[in-house]
Formats: sequence, structure tokens, C-alpha cells
Amino acid sequence: MLVALHPVSKKSISVDEYILEYGEEQREYANRALCPFLCGDKMTLVRQKGIVHHFAHFGDYFCPSKEDKGPQYKNSPPKNPDAKHAAEILEIFKNNLKRYYKKLKELIPFILIQEFEEILNAAKKLHIWHYSQIKEFQLPYIFASLIDFHPQSPKKYKTKSVRELHFRFIFSHVIRCYDDLIEHEQQTVHFLRASYKQNKKTHAHKIYA
Ligand SMILES: [Zn+2]
Repeated sequence: MLVALHPVSKKSISVDEYILEYGEEQREYANRALCPFLCGDKMTLVRQKGIVHHFAHFGDYFCPSKEDKGPQYKNSPPKNPDAKHAAEILEIFKNNLKRYYKKLKELIPFILIQEFEEILNAAKKLHIWHYSQIKEFQLPYIFASLIDFHPQSPKKYKTKSVRELHFRFIFSHVIRCYDDLIEHEQQTVHFLRASYKQNKKTHAHKIYA
């Protein structure tokens, strides 16, 4: 990762800023930067070709950012599917389509209508409506986490303002499946965006956080 959290202020800190304050050598545990995905792990500095290049996790904590293909929310179908609740929340959604699209535009820079359609197809396929007790306000966040958002080509979209990085939306580490959203208090769940620059050679992603 190229960005982590400052060990004291907990604000975003780049590799260069961290080195300026703490130096290049491995620091005492208390002075290590923190994972920007809030998994609780500390970060270590990693060198590439002799140069300190990025932050990496120090311990073995579970962290959604470690999953190459993204968090595995999609592999956990609703534990207690609720058809009545599904019909009610789907009705609310259909009656407020514009409002939901507006909210997604706020969350996902440069979202395209095709991506919105892709999200709705994924929601249907994964029975998102059937998670019991899923609240209306949670829908846009769940939607944003359903698909990855790829960089866009200015040529293709004939505009200068395009998405330049690959975006993936994840919940903080306490959420491992959508059912977990019901069990956790709103204050303990963070919604995060990981921005990646795609490396064409290896298809590996670099996380900017
Ligand atoms: Zn982490």
C-alpha cells in the first residue's frame, strides 16, 4: 500500500511522509503505521530494488484488502432469507430509483449507467433483497461493494474526466458477509474505497487506499 494511517494522529500518511517523520528503518511496534482498512494490524515498510517502496501488513490479521479477488461477501448467501422483507425493500427501492442512483454517484466517482445495471443484476443474482433486516439506508453501500469499478478510457467515453484507477468498495474487517451488517452497530462498521493502479505485467494491484 502506498498510503497507511499515522500511528498517532490516525490520519492518512504516504510512504514518503512516514519516512520523513520516522526514518526508513523498521520502527518500534508503537511507531508503525496502521492499516488504512482498519483491520487493526500495523504496517511494515517494504523495499524494492533497495528503495523503500510501500507499506505491507506486519501480522496475520484478517483484512479484506488482502483478498486478491475482493472480499468474499458474495459467497455467503442470506442465512435467513426473508421473502416478505425482500418484497417490501424492493418496493421501496423501485419507488426511489433516482435517489439511489444519486447516492451511488456520490459514492462511486464516474459511475456509468451500465455499471448501475450491472449492480442491479448482481443484486438479483445474489438475492440481496432477501437478507433479513437489511435496512434501506444500507442498500447503496451493499450495491457499491457488489462489483469492481474499472479504469475508464477517455477515448471511449469522449470526455477528459474519467476514472483513472480501479476502485473496489469494502466494509471494514468486522464484516465478512452481508448478514454481519445486521449484527454490528452502525458506528463499528466503516465503508472504505480501495483504489488500485493496475500493473499490466503481473495484473497485480497496488493499493492506494
Ligand atoms: Zn489491513
